[in-house]
Amino acid sequence: MSYVDRMCLRLMAPCLLPALCGALLAWSAEGLLGLPRAAGAPDLPSYLIVAGGAASVALYAVQAGRLLRWRRGRGAACYVCGCLLGRAREGRWGVYRPCLGCGKQHGV
Ligand SMILES: [Zn+2]
Repeated sequence: MSYVDRMCLRLMAPCLLPALCGALLAWSAEGLLGLPRAAGAPDLPSYLIVAGGAASVALYAVQAGRLLRWRRGRGAACYVCGCLLGRAREGRWGVYRPCLGCGKQHGV
């Protein structure tokens, strides 16, 4: 697995989390609300699935935008491997940004 593959995986794998949470919440809501519904009552589990899917698509669009900016040469890149840098974090020696490809830490 190359550094670029690792960067893409680190960018795109969290996009599945909202859909997975929505499905789990829908499954649990279906279990809790298993009673017969009145006519015209909202179908909560299907709304939860749609909301989770929409959040996943929105997060995917944001990450794809970051990846597109990186391909165009904009944005902070690692000087070792050239991959995108992650969000700023507080470390022992100050603020740093980890590389999404090789994992090296870059001071801000
Ligand atoms: Zn790197």
